[in-house]
Amino acid sequence: MSGKQNAKGNHIDVLIVGAGISGIGAAWHMQDQCPDKSYLILEKMDSFGGTWLTHKYPGIRSDSDLYTFGYRFKPWTSAPIASGEEILKYMGEVIEENRIDRHIRYGQTITHASWSSEDSLWTVDTVNDHGEKQNYTANFLWMCQGYYSHDKGYTPEWDGMSDYRGQIIHPQTWPEDTNLKDKRVLVIGSGATAATLVPAIAGECEHVALLQRSPTYFWPAQNANELADTLREIELDEELIHSIVRKKALFDQQDLIRRCKEEPEVMKEELLALAREYLGPDFDIEKHFTPKYRPWQQRVAFIPDGDLFQGIAAGSASVVTDEIDRFTEKGILLKSGDELEADIVITATGFNLSVLGDIPFAIDGDPVNWADTITYRGMMFTDIPNLLWVFGYFRASWTLRVDLLGDFVCRLLKHMDVKGAKSVKVSLRPEDKDMEIEQWIDTEDFNPGYLQRGMAKMPRKGAKPIWQHTQDYWREREELPAIDLDGPEFVYGSAEAKIETSKVEVA
Ligand SMILES: Cc1cc2nc3c(=O)[nH]c(=O)nc-3n(C[C@H](O)[C@H](O)[C@H](O)COP(=O)(O)OP(=O)(O)OC[C@H]3O[C@@H](n4cnc5c(N)ncnc54)[C@H](O)[C@@H]3O)c2cc1C
Repeated sequence: MSGKQNAKGNHIDVLIVGAGISGIGAAWHMQDQCPDKSYLILEKMDSFGGTWLTHKYPGIRSDSDLYTFGYRFKPWTSAPIASGEEILKYMGEVIEENRIDRHIRYGQTITHASWSSEDSLWTVDTVNDHGEKQNYTANFLWMCQGYYSHDKGYTPEWDGMSDYRGQIIHPQTWPEDTNLKDKRVLVIGSGATAATLVPAIAGECEHVALLQRSPTYFWPAQNANELADTLREIELDEELIHSIVRKKALFDQQDLIRRCKEEPEVMKEELLALAREYLGPDFDIEKHFTPKYRPWQQRVAFIPDGDLFQGIAAGSASVVTDEIDRFTEKGILLKSGDELEADIVITATGFNLSVLGDIPFAIDGDPVNWADTITYRGMMFTDIPNLLWVFGYFRASWTLRVDLLGDFVCRLLKHMDVKGAKSVKVSLRPEDKDMEIEQWIDTEDFNPGYLQRGMAKMPRKGAKPIWQHTQDYWREREELPAIDLDGPEFVYGSAEAKIETSKVEVA
């Protein structure tokens, strides 16, 4: 799969889109498993990190433990829940230790990608920050551009927003000069972002209120891993500690998910009891912290050391469960008739879904509508050659899938070489002819707002598990390595590039 010569020097075997945690992981796997192939990462922003670079609001942190959100190949050596800064530092070390920086081109936005079946090549157009255009050819596209638009978060349109005299901020675009001192702040939202922000700013502003339409499950626990601490005390090396603690964390998470499914009521009571421990017997847990859905139907938000509950118990933060009627000059009028006055309103109301980076794609000149495709295991799409999208897990750390898909892509690339194939795509098999085709995800099972709002843009799924993103790490860690790459769903092609290409130089 190596390119021929041309004057422009813009050919690459594998083009990785995005330098977030998925793209950097993909790069590591290329170097580790496919060292003979060239690869390049194109990244729109001027540095690496993706999510962890974009989000700069106070307190930004993971809500997964880093023993599983960290890569399998790079030990995590601190407390399990990490700040955005710590995650960036960790990624920076992976880049530096493996000299991945030589392969990254920053400030390059991909504006179009087109596949030519005649040449078995992708042509990818980019524009940089100065408006300069360029194009690259690539044999394979490894799409690591995440799942939401990095430009702007989602803020619903409420009546009266233009009447409001205070400041409205979306956490995704947090202004650096925000001054919260002596301000009354209202945070709208009930997810992980709101739960992170509220305790982080509670000591700084006059008062912060969390306004939620409906409650979320929170899981308060110590931000420490006793097993890791013990293993460190007995001086095991960090690689071994990472691997043991990761296995234990995965075992515990699997058990938690199983319990949420098998005994949701018991789980619910356990979570509510934990909330009660922090908030006391007089707090209205039923109203403010008892969701209508079962635990894990949406991500259960981890709150280290119960910091959100601590702020509420101490009185520096409060929670209001009600619906917004409209904005007023001074704040927000609620459906109950109460008015909440605020100097700053923070809309922690989520993201805008971005499917394949909203990049226009074409196959042999025909535009691709992703909703016309069916996903193969949530990573490839019917009749789209030489392309894989990294879409991680909701109920387990995203990055677990980055490693699994890293193994898969490298195995697939090697298999193509052995076969002498230049292209591979997935197609429905004869036995899938009458299979029911449905939307990407079952909203009964999992229903985050950005997916529900954007579902029509997503690829679809089939009734059989291989045509779905099962969101089940424990199943996939057995199934993905065992995939028969000569199975009838894989269609290989052998058309050689007829145009001249030459490799991108890596310093
Ligand atoms: C605040 C927050 C906290 C989260 N916490 C967790 C957590 O604790 N655990 C968990 O598992 N998940 C968490 N997630 C989900 C999280 O987004 C993923 O875990 C993971 O970071 C996604 O990484 P990624 O590299 O796939 O995508 P991203 O981080 O979104 O990075 C994609 C990169 O691709 C680039 N890109 C996009 N389009 C283009 C284009 N057209 N051209 C060039 N470059 C492009 C972007 O600029 C970006 O740098 C969190 C998400 C958010 C927003």
